[in-house]
Amino acid sequence: MLRSRWRLAGCAFGLWLTTAGCSPNAVQTATAHPTETVGNTPRIDSERMFAVLEHLASDTLAGRYSLSATHIRAAARYLADAYRDAGIASVGPDYLVDFPLVAGSEPSDDFHFWIERNGTSVRVDDDAFVTMGTSDARATFAEVVVVDPSSPTRVDDRVSGAVALVWPPDGAARSADRLAAIVSAGPAAMVVVHDDALPPKNTEMFPGIAAVAIERSRALELFGIEEPKRARALPDTRVSLAPKPRETFTPVPNVLATLAGSERPEEIVVLGAHYDHIGTTGQGIFCRPSPDDSEPDSVCNGADDNASGTAMVLEIARALAGSGYQPRRTIVFAHFAGEELGLHGSHAIANDPPELPPFRGGRVVAMINLDMVGRLGEPGLAIGGIGSSSAWMEILSNVDEHGMSVVYERAISGRSDHASFYEKDIPILFFFTGVHDDYHRAGDEAAKINLEGMTSIAHMVTDTLQIVADGRPMPFTAPRSPAEGIVPRMPGTDPSTLEHRADSSP
Ligand SMILES: [Zn+2]
Repeated sequence: MLRSRWRLAGCAFGLWLTTAGCSPNAVQTATAHPTETVGNTPRIDSERMFAVLEHLASDTLAGRYSLSATHIRAAARYLADAYRDAGIASVGPDYLVDFPLVAGSEPSDDFHFWIERNGTSVRVDDDAFVTMGTSDARATFAEVVVVDPSSPTRVDDRVSGAVALVWPPDGAARSADRLAAIVSAGPAAMVVVHDDALPPKNTEMFPGIAAVAIERSRALELFGIEEPKRARALPDTRVSLAPKPRETFTPVPNVLATLAGSERPEEIVVLGAHYDHIGTTGQGIFCRPSPDDSEPDSVCNGADDNASGTAMVLEIARALAGSGYQPRRTIVFAHFAGEELGLHGSHAIANDPPELPPFRGGRVVAMINLDMVGRLGEPGLAIGGIGSSSAWMEILSNVDEHGMSVVYERAISGRSDHASFYEKDIPILFFFTGVHDDYHRAGDEAAKINLEGMTSIAHMVTDTLQIVADGRPMPFTAPRSPAEGIVPRMPGTDPSTLEHRADSSP
């Protein structure tokens, strides 16, 4: 679960049973749907599922931080091996499909060019100049000194430490000698004025000096001066050339396995969960100690967030494969990385699908996301995204709730991977058991998992997935109002967008 980009909503803490005054819509009458599923009833193996969760949440994987290559790849490899052992096919040669994840930024050879005159700063349009020079230097609002245009080689002492405004010399061509003399005078940066067309970017480089080239008419206008005749400092005028940061990327693996569709293999149903988490208290800004920690613990194990969803996806895959199930549509079991840093792994699949079957030539018709499904408690299970397809409630009304209280939420929380698919007009569902005190803290550990609850949810997800994979039409439904579109809050926290509430508990 991605920490809210808006705010960490204090109201989101499992409040969805406190819906006093809420009158949920009556559930639609169940439409009989012939179950023509091929294979036996899938059997969810709770112990096997928990063993996967425990391994993922163990300290050896150090909180599965996407930018900690050793740990994220070890987790990915563990999942891939489990699929291989179960005889479930890979997407790509070995299940791991890398995507580029933003790892940081570095200075580029492009500059921001600011001119400050009489206390007012103006940013020069990027297309009004070309960069020359290198990113290892910058000048931040140094004063501007015009280099003597009357002499091909004479350079005023005041150029040292200032921004040299290099005017084309009278009657003499700009020469390498002249520029070399200016550089050796030690300017902080150079603005080189050209009579004619600007040179191509970075064709005239001055190592260690930030420099830009600009046309004469623009320079006169931007600096507010007449044609200069001699060296002089421009009063109340300063220039800043700062390298633009450029994002750097590192390859990080999604883990993708598939059951091929027997009749409509090009129609893909994604069952997904992110397997990354937020690492340790020393990494990034996310992992916090638990408030009640008597023993110091630096690892955010992410047992609920989201070893629970990860283990459940794998277990459902094994159960389906073990039952001999043959879906009509293709199912992709997707384990996303980069979720905690901004839904990057799912974004890569939704926006730039791998050039691999079944994505090559196929299209995703529905996505079911499991994120934080390990703490089923008093408020019950929340299923978000009901509003994304008119088919969902009809499908779910045929699915046993296994004794759970369930709220069916129309809106789409923007805080987990299903949002990446919803933004591409793909119907989504989001299974979720609620935020808790250990959310994004070191106390999110396997011992606090409700395995019985996970097993009930796994059955419900399996039934839902099979109905979709067996070919039910899945129209996308646009939100009826902004409150039912992508929202920052978690499912079940606003009574006004509840489709239905089923209290099946005894
Ligand atoms: Zn999270």
